[in-house]
Amino acid sequence: MELEFEKEYIPQNIEKKWIKFWIEKRIFQGDEKFKEKKFSLVLPPPNVTGTLHMGHALAFTIPDIIVKRKKMQGYNTMWLPGTDHAGIATQIVVERMLAKEGIKKEDLGREKFLQKVWEWKEKSEKRIKEQLTTLGLSLDWSRYRFTLDEGLSKAVKRVFIELYNKELIYKGNYMVNWCPRCGTAISDLEVIYEEERGKLYYLKYPIKDKKNEFIIVATTRPETMLGDTAVAVHPEDERYKDLIGKTLILPLQNREIPIIADKVVEREFGTGAVKVTPAHDPNDFKIGKRHNLDFVKVINEKGIMTKKAGEKFKGLTREEARKKVIEALEKEGLVLKIEEYTHSVGHCQRCGTVVEPMISNQWFVKIKPLAEPAIKAVETGKIKFIPKNWEKTYFEWMYNIRDWCISRQLWWGHQIPVYYCQDCGETIVSEENPKKCLKCGSNNLKQEEDVLDTWFSSALWPFSTLGWPEETDDLKTFYPTDLMATGFDIIFFWVARMIMMGLEFGKDIPFKEVLINGLIRDEHGQKMSKTKGNVIDPLDMINKYGADALRFTLAINAVPGMDISISESRMKGYKAFANKLWNAARFVYMNTKELENKNFKTLNKENLSLADRWILSTLQSVKKEINISLDEYKIFKAADTIYHFVWHQYCDWYIEASKKEIREGNKDTLLVLLYTLKEIIQLLFPFMPFISEELWERFEFSSKSIALSNYPRPEYKWKNSEAENLMSELIEFVSGVRKVRAEAGINPSAYINLLILPSNDNTKENIEKNAKVIKLLTRTKGFEIIEGHPQGRYLKGVSLNWEFFIPVEGLIEVEKEIKRIEKEKTGVENELKSTEARLRNENFLKKAPKEIVERTKRRKEELKEKLKKLENTLNIFKNL
Ligand SMILES: [Zn+2]
Ligand SMILES: [Zn+2]
Repeated sequence: MELEFEKEYIPQNIEKKWIKFWIEKRIFQGDEKFKEKKFSLVLPPPNVTGTLHMGHALAFTIPDIIVKRKKMQGYNTMWLPGTDHAGIATQIVVERMLAKEGIKKEDLGREKFLQKVWEWKEKSEKRIKEQLTTLGLSLDWSRYRFTLDEGLSKAVKRVFIELYNKELIYKGNYMVNWCPRCGTAISDLEVIYEEERGKLYYLKYPIKDKKNEFIIVATTRPETMLGDTAVAVHPEDERYKDLIGKTLILPLQNREIPIIADKVVEREFGTGAVKVTPAHDPNDFKIGKRHNLDFVKVINEKGIMTKKAGEKFKGLTREEARKKVIEALEKEGLVLKIEEYTHSVGHCQRCGTVVEPMISNQWFVKIKPLAEPAIKAVETGKIKFIPKNWEKTYFEWMYNIRDWCISRQLWWGHQIPVYYCQDCGETIVSEENPKKCLKCGSNNLKQEEDVLDTWFSSALWPFSTLGWPEETDDLKTFYPTDLMATGFDIIFFWVARMIMMGLEFGKDIPFKEVLINGLIRDEHGQKMSKTKGNVIDPLDMINKYGADALRFTLAINAVPGMDISISESRMKGYKAFANKLWNAARFVYMNTKELENKNFKTLNKENLSLADRWILSTLQSVKKEINISLDEYKIFKAADTIYHFVWHQYCDWYIEASKKEIREGNKDTLLVLLYTLKEIIQLLFPFMPFISEELWERFEFSSKSIALSNYPRPEYKWKNSEAENLMSELIEFVSGVRKVRAEAGINPSAYINLLILPSNDNTKENIEKNAKVIKLLTRTKGFEIIEGHPQGRYLKGVSLNWEFFIPVEGLIEVEKEIKRIEKEKTGVENELKSTEARLRNENFLKKAPKEIVERTKRRKEELKEKLKKLENTLNIFKNL
């Protein structure tokens, strides 16, 4: 039955069908019994409440290209998908939803609130999973995991308990970053620093028993002075040497505080004397520990001033307290000056609230013993970063790593498996809910309320998802995984922690290579953000141009480790590329559908035209280049190679040049045409899976998915450098004629006569042999090889190997043309003059809308360009 081959490629007509096909036929399902040639990886789990964004699209498309090719190379690929429960992010979403109904989570209580979160999770999980499928990724959906599912929760508890028993987990009062809005500790990495304009306050602290003698301290947060318990200076600072050990009277609080010496004080900053607030600053915390100072907590977990801040200030917010403190100090004449000051302020990544450093009783992982082997794994090259320069960043962070605060004061997450006996105070750490206290037998036990940092569970992702701690076939076959592809922004959050946990619990590195991708930027190189309004939504792009166009845009622009600029116009461009391929395929289909013998192996080499031999030879080089590029993870280069081959070689030259052979019924040319197309769509499948699978089916190249066919390898018997040279000479020649035609403004449909003067015998032979093709491609009726320069009026073109002449007689009325062009030229010159005048007019530049000014500038450039072309043509005609 004849297939209806639409005139345009409409991705919307086919994409859903293939998504369903790949999933239902389990094309990309891994085989846990086949270890010898496996290629496994885990998907960085998107937040279960998230929506697919361009960063995901990039981070997933790149490894997908690698996986699809591996599949076609016969690997047992297994790419495990999943979602992350995303502690704070998810809890905030549900809290906000409830707030709209006027409900607080405390009104519901922990259990009921969590029920609401699970309900919401089911809905949003379905959505993000669906969105993930739209990209056509080769994920093994039969192995989908969620960080809070039963198996993973078991792994999390097991790891916690083992670390606890190895004394690598401890609880204690330490300085953490606290978000007063979210009411939880957050990690250093979840604090986003932003430059802000603030003030630097210079405060006078009176020296005890000395009238009118002060030490001046500078601070950006005067409200914290209420919790000061010392002033520190550098031990070698001449200005303060005599004051070390003396006592100050802390204003407003009337508390005696010592002047201490500590080497961390920077003599150059401010006055060289710093106030020390051990309870509210991480550096002061350390100073406080070293000097045994008091820790006075003046701000509470909600960001409100405590009783210890004094009667006047308790109950105020931090901002209110700042104003009041300065007013009170000014009243006492203790503010020396206030300067404008730009400094960086930490904000909660999730909610934007200013983070408060706070001493808090939290759970920590003692990280140094875990970090050491993780550093070694990268140093020895067991794990490789691509590009390699990211290893430096990794080392820097790992060498300076601090203990990891893993407890969060949230409800949504893995509740810490620690139980406290309410009677004897015993702490029980247990995987199962214990019935009785091990020490006193009481059943009055209470579980730790805190949950674990989300990254604690995602750090286990490469092995917990494979069934660990059970020794499953999945674990034996697929661990360690081969590749981790992710953004540089989570090297610390995630990659480093996976390496540490993998080595400790998976007993091996979690992956062999880490492929780091860049950041998505808009066409002007700007970061995409909602506030700038320059966000490009991948789902929107898929709806408009198809997933293949989106994937190809990302692939061809993704230089590893570099930021990539994308724009809608590029997507449109690659949609056009898909369309170009579609039309070529349609042409091939129409011409080969009745071909009885489609077996390329029966090809008769004797019948091949120059173009046939050339395209087959070029195809081998293209396959070689693409395979090398993909081996080196130079996806962008491979994409560029296939693009150029399809568009500029196969479509523009080969198909055009083979039309003559097709007309003459050369069945071997038809075989080459078909075979090359087959290899093109196989090469393209990892990049543009939808159109490739569709064409594969339409041409009935096999009854199975294209994913199960072999990725093309070069066959050197088809290399033919002579054919490549001769064809490139023809291409150069034809391009030369076309250029001259265009410059002289010859109507594209007009036929010309062509006289050719070759300068050597090889060229002469090449041109003679391919006269028919040349005539076809240059729209020539009269064609003559001559031996000397002709007389008369000719347009001409020259190269090393030939000259050609196009008689103007009967083609162009030269004098009339000259007049016409001169007239057109005058018109352009006039417009250019007035445009330039406008652009010199200050008034216009100031008052006209920006777009109009821009458009006028562009117009000026266009006119200049046009003028140049007209002058060029005029020159040609005048010299005839
Ligand atoms: Zn927050
Ligand atoms: Zn007890």
